Amino acid sequence: MVCPVCGFEEYEILKSKGKKNKELLVKCDECNHVYHETAPEEAYEIQVRVVISEFETSWKTNITLYSDEYLETGTLLYIDDKDVEVTSIENNEGNRVFECPVVDIQTIWAKSLDTLSRIGFSIDNSGNVISYKVELEREFPIAIGDVGEINGLKFRVYGIKTLERNMKKGFAYARVIKRVYGKLLSSKDKSKLKYDLSEYVVKVTSKEKNYN
Ligand SMILES: [Zn+2]
Repeated sequence: MVCPVCGFEEYEILKSKGKKNKELLVKCDECNHVYHETAPEEAYEIQVRVVISEFETSWKTNITLYSDEYLETGTLLYIDDKDVEVTSIENNEGNRVFECPVVDIQTIWAKSLDTLSRIGFSIDNSGNVISYKVELEREFPIAIGDVGEINGLKFRVYGIKTLERNMKKGFAYARVIKRVYGKLLSSKDKSKLKYDLSEYVVKVTSKEKNYN
C-alpha cells in the first residue's frame, strides 16, 4: 500500500472491516493523509514451471511456491525426489534474472545435484601436472582419446583409473572413475572439443599456471 499523496509505504491502521478482503482505513506515517485501502491478499500457492538438467538430459516439472516469496539463483530446492540448485530464473517478460518475486516467475532453470560423482583430473604439460576435482553426473561417459577442456586448458584423455583398474583404451562412466589423465594440447590444436568441464570444477588441487 502506498500513500496516494506522498508515496510513503508505512501507515497506521485506523479501522478495519470485512473478513476476506479487508477494507482498511489507514493514516500515512509520513504526511498523515487518511485513505481507504484493501488489505494485501494472503499468500497463496503458485505452481511454477521448472526445467531440471542433468548434463545431456533435461525435463520439465513443477514446484509449489508461495506468492509472497522471492527466489534467487543458487537456492537449493527439493523437487521430484532430487536436490536441485536454481541456476537461472526467467521472469514473465522473458528476461533471465538473478532474483525474482515468485509471482513474476515464468520458468525456473535448475541443475540436479544428487547424481554427481566427484573425480580427479590430472592434466600433464610435459611433466607439470595440474590437478582438479570435478563433479560430474554419474552416468557421464569419459573415453580414452576424448578431447576436453578445463579452465581454458585443452587436453586429450590418455588414461583412466577406475575403482578396479587402470585403463588405456575404452571408456568408463564417471560413477566408477577415480581419476582421469590427460595430456595438455597446444592452444593451436584443432581437435574438436567433446566437453568443457570448467563449470563442474569444485577444486583446483594443484597450482594453476598460466600457459598462454
Ligand atoms: Zn502520505
